[in-house]
Amino acid sequence: MAEAIGNCRCGKVVMAVTGEPVMTSACHCDGCKAMTASAFSLSALVPEAGFAVRSGEVVLGGARTPGLDHYFCPDCKSWLFTRIDGLDGLVNLRSPLFDRPDWSWPFIETMTAEKFHWVEVPAVHAYEGFPPMAAFETLMDEFSDRRPG
Ligand SMILES: [Zn+2]
Ligand SMILES: [Zn+2]
Repeated sequence: MAEAIGNCRCGKVVMAVTGEPVMTSACHCDGCKAMTASAFSLSALVPEAGFAVRSGEVVLGGARTPGLDHYFCPDCKSWLFTRIDGLDGLVNLRSPLFDRPDWSWPFIETMTAEKFHWVEVPAVHAYEGFPPMAAFETLMDEFSDRRPG
């Protein structure tokens, strides 16, 4: 199976993914704005089993909220991926770091309550907060039908 490769800004951290995302998203929350210094973050949720840090070290960063582990490159400080309690077995990658531009297309957008009013994201579903965990299975089914080639 084809392997996707992601790099931090300095190149010391190399991540590899076998398989495809189960969901992609844009998040407009103030935390994502702070960590990207931009209008929103872009993520691809992939199975942990197909994910590996191929080289380099990663460190925890962000607000250090329990149950929300954000990993960074200790040298260039790129935000790399996030592990979320409740989404066990999955890892949320910062999709623009990967050599798969199609992974950055956001199927859903979250936390639109904190969105800059001038931002328009072509997501299929928008949530003022986060989608309820119970909705994820249906969303993942729909995503697999609609994601671009
Ligand atoms: Zn780096
Ligand atoms: Zn966010």
